[in-house]
Amino acid sequence: MNTPNPTPTPKPGSRQWRGVIREYADRLDVTDATPIVTLGEGGTPLLPAPALSRRTGADVWVKFEGMNPTGSFKDRGMTMAVTKAVEHGAKVVICASTGNTSASAAAYATHAGIGAAVLLPEGKVAMGKLSQTIAHDAKLIQVQGTFDDCLDIARDLAANYPVHLVNSVNNDRIEGQKTAAFEVVEVLGDAPDLHVVPVGNAGNYTAYTRGYREDIAAGNATRMPRMFGFQAAGSAPIVRGEPVRDPDTIASAIRIGNPASWELALQARDETDGYFGAIEDAAILEAQRILSAEVGIFVEPASAISVAGLLERAAAGAVPRGARVVLTVTGHGLKDPQWALRTADGSDVEPTVVPVDTAQVAAALGLAS
Ligand SMILES: *Cc1c(COP(=O)(O)O)cnc(C)c1O
Repeated sequence: MNTPNPTPTPKPGSRQWRGVIREYADRLDVTDATPIVTLGEGGTPLLPAPALSRRTGADVWVKFEGMNPTGSFKDRGMTMAVTKAVEHGAKVVICASTGNTSASAAAYATHAGIGAAVLLPEGKVAMGKLSQTIAHDAKLIQVQGTFDDCLDIARDLAANYPVHLVNSVNNDRIEGQKTAAFEVVEVLGDAPDLHVVPVGNAGNYTAYTRGYREDIAAGNATRMPRMFGFQAAGSAPIVRGEPVRDPDTIASAIRIGNPASWELALQARDETDGYFGAIEDAAILEAQRILSAEVGIFVEPASAISVAGLLERAAAGAVPRGARVVLTVTGHGLKDPQWALRTADGSDVEPTVVPVDTAQVAAALGLAS
């Protein structure tokens, strides 16, 4: 129980990414005695997206957070939250989740040798995320309510029972997640002009702002990017200015009606001259297809809202030509793959079927003889 990961002793000259706590130990609340729990999260690709640059006239880069160990950015915060939980002697972590937090909490708790209890809204979680949570042996409870109901109960339990809350209301999560901004600045040499993120509880929006702020204070960056956050139109409490009781969107990871970090997000928006916007589901799916078919990056619907939001803002004339833009795409497309199998009009994609015959395959491929 609670065995820290042994410190690796790499061969001289070799280099393996060590996870965000070891990579940024001097910028996080850890000591030499902290029992670091890591699955090697962070160090994700920041990729140029020429197709999006062409469409918008901006210089667009994509931070591909689906490349984290459990397939979403939640791992950056979870390494910190579970590490601190173990440091405080916790035996069980608890969270409410739309799926990715639970997958991450389950994996990190298992790696640490402690338990994970997760509360999920019944019938509202993508199958890949449910599979991960079960595979990593979490105690899974489906609640007959929304994510917001689950979070209320998780907070109640953490206040009254020996369980440690690892939702993003836990500041350790935000601390871990701020490292994504550090990575962007390292790769680009400075902060971008504009940074776009999907918004659910708004923890990540808050975390990037904190990361950039700290990088400016440390002299690593010269400017604060304008932080643009997007919510699904059917689940847009921050844009509307009031909680949404029955949030509805295909982007299940951001189906949140009463964001936990609402106040912090408004502060971050004001600090960065930022913006919150709402995007319809159809535009989210179209953006998902553009990113997968024109850039080569497959993301879940919630993540594609960064792309949809940028396209919407560019069409509105709100993105200056040549502006350097970073889009965070938060989770991998394989977690919720069904949407790629539907056409824009909602019918199923029909694969072409041919007999075992080279000429017929060639004809079906449109190859000239
Ligand atoms: C959690 C999550 C979000 C929302 O992040 P918040 O910090 O809650 O705003 C967006 N996309 C994906 C894939 C997520 O898992």
